[in-house]
Amino acid sequence: SPSSTVVTRFAPSPTGYLHIGGARTALFNWLYAKSRGGKFLIRVEDTDRERSTDDAVKAIFDGLSWLELFGDEEPVFQFARADRHREVAEQLLASGHAYRDFLTADETNALRDQAKAEGRDFVSPWRNREPTVDDLAKPSTIRFRRPLDQAVVVDDAVQGSVRWESSSLDDLVIVRSDGAPTYNLAVVVDDHDMGVTHVIRGDDHLNNAARQSLIYDALGWTRPTFAHIPLIHGPDGAKLSKRHGAQAVHEYAEMGYLPEAMRNYLARLGWAHGDHELFSDEQAIEWFDLSGIGKAPARLDFDKLAHVNAHW
Ligand code: GLU
Repeated sequence: SPSSTVVTRFAPSPTGYLHIGGARTALFNWLYAKSRGGKFLIRVEDTDRERSTDDAVKAIFDGLSWLELFGDEEPVFQFARADRHREVAEQLLASGHAYRDFLTADETNALRDQAKAEGRDFVSPWRNREPTVDDLAKPSTIRFRRPLDQAVVVDDAVQGSVRWESSSLDDLVIVRSDGAPTYNLAVVVDDHDMGVTHVIRGDDHLNNAARQSLIYDALGWTRPTFAHIPLIHGPDGAKLSKRHGAQAVHEYAEMGYLPEAMRNYLARLGWAHGDHELFSDEQAIEWFDLSGIGKAPARLDFDKLAHVNAHW
């Protein structure tokens, strides 16, 4: 039935070229959608107007095209949906799951420092204060009212059951005082509106899954299945960096690697199916499953990549 159709997405922030980690995330989402007869979507997360560039948007699509990872629908641009994000923030205000915070940045910092000195968590006084008509004429941020004294549990398809105490999470700002929606609100609204069923992304976003789950719950929306993949490390096991060699997908293209070899190699970075090293797209699609994604970071291995490339 249509309601059980798998929908995945790749949601890059256009602040640079498509790197190996992003390419692998895109590939896993693509493979999972194809393996389930579902849809793979692309969303450009260009809400950070200072850091997002048209060149980066182009570089990311060039990288995806080279890898032959095409979305099944037109890409969504997140910034263009800001009105919809604000509309949902209003909905959260109306249901009491969010509140307006009229503290200035300086006042917030001062109260935060004070709370810290007293060993308390910072909570804006506006969490429990009804604004007057005069207050409402002033600028405010909108904060999500997280449920206190209640743990958040996310059943992650890779990480297992992960639990956060809500005291560790803060009342997240979901709309800034200039009206700009923030990352976690935008992601939840877009994933929901796009019908995303599976969020497969780097585990640097694991803590965001807790915050996003609370927003889903407050809106009465079904949470997607989260699958947070360990980041890729260099051959020495350290976090991937320039000294490990090429990081941008276009560098591999320029070195003469074949896109099918890159797909084959990237599929094996953090995902395993028995001892199979070399396989076609058809086999990868047939075999791909979230349960085959490991919990330990995968290491780049240039000899292996060269070996895979020679096969193709
Ligand atoms: N735009 C985020 C990034 O590039 C990804 C957000 C997500 O996948 O939920 O890191």
